[in-house]
Amino acid sequence: MARPITNAGERVASKERKLEALLRGMTREMELYEKLSGNKVRCFACGHRCAIPDDRAGVCRVRFNKEGRLFGPTGYASALQLDPIEKKPFFHALPGTLAFSFGMLGCDFHCGYCQNWITSQTLRDPQAGHDPVRVSPDQMVEGARRHGALTLTSTYNEPLITSEWAVEAFKRGRAAGLATSCVSNGNGTPEVIDYLRPWVDFYKVDLKSFNPDGYRQLGGKLDHVLATIAMLYERGFWVEIVTLVVSGFNDSEAELREIARFIKSVSADIPWHVTAFHRDYKMTDRNDTSTRQIIRAAEIGYAEGLRFVYAGNRPGETGELENTRCPGCGETLIERCGFQILQDRLQAGGCPKCGIRIPGVWRVEDLPAARQCRRRDTPKLDIAAIVEEARRKFAKA
Ligand code: SF4
Repeated sequence: MARPITNAGERVASKERKLEALLRGMTREMELYEKLSGNKVRCFACGHRCAIPDDRAGVCRVRFNKEGRLFGPTGYASALQLDPIEKKPFFHALPGTLAFSFGMLGCDFHCGYCQNWITSQTLRDPQAGHDPVRVSPDQMVEGARRHGALTLTSTYNEPLITSEWAVEAFKRGRAAGLATSCVSNGNGTPEVIDYLRPWVDFYKVDLKSFNPDGYRQLGGKLDHVLATIAMLYERGFWVEIVTLVVSGFNDSEAELREIARFIKSVSADIPWHVTAFHRDYKMTDRNDTSTRQIIRAAEIGYAEGLRFVYAGNRPGETGELENTRCPGCGETLIERCGFQILQDRLQAGGCPKCGIRIPGVWRVEDLPAARQCRRRDTPKLDIAAIVEEARRKFAKA
């Protein structure tokens, strides 16, 4: 007869085992993998490129090898929510509209300050985990349409590790006239970016650090993220980048300057959001980021030549740094407070004063042209050399 569970540790372990069994029941064979010898598989949904033996899972814990075939999540959501698209954050994509957001469980990183750790760290941290709800792509699209959302967004956990599910939903969303987007850590591969390209309009990447050691602490690699940003831009996704500024982790002037320089080397037109950290999850040993720090970070971005830099998570405290201004004449074009649009003066995507076009996907009518976009003017970047230089610059004495 089974022994009753009496202590807290055993109860947590039992809960995790049950959740794992439940999630295994909501899987199908994946597409982003290849078969290797000896019943192994190699997954290329994210930059880890796990080689997974039979009956084992990858680093993300939610994709696993069963008898020489790779299985992964399908048919559920851990969260469904209606958000302003500015919360993702996208500031140059359908401003003032709603994004119907869905998430699954699991992540390929383990950031100590994750604000979605209950969903992202499932099956890695016994305290994490959230009951999944069975849902179909059609139900999510119907939810988006019923609530007037214009965009369907994969978020809350890492979208790359659940790319096949996102594409199922995005295909239905596109057919219903919706835009589509991912909110991602950017640990991509050429294969997954090409797989997503026909179905994804807007892509947000967290560029969390420019220090290879910093990325190692989070479970990732700087070069994968830099390469992903360059690939996304080249292939014509609308890209915005976020850096959560964390005291003592990535807030040195040198590191913020390197991040801004890198973004500019891809394109000065990519919006950079510098956002304020607050204590969360395992990172409770440092102060919340101050308004002054965020303003300074944004000023560094502008000084390095970026044309659109936004200060986030301090609504109403950073003046013009929440607004979109014309890089030609300085006119305020979109005035914001947090995620709210106070005024939108753009005229057909251009400045009403000097007439220059502001990069972005401003209206639903712009989507067909954005979907055709392939950029040929992207400089070829030597990512390995950039990372080696960063390693040298930020190496601890
Ligand atoms: S998604 Fe990434 S972490 Fe998960 S199995 Fe595939 S390569 Fe590994």
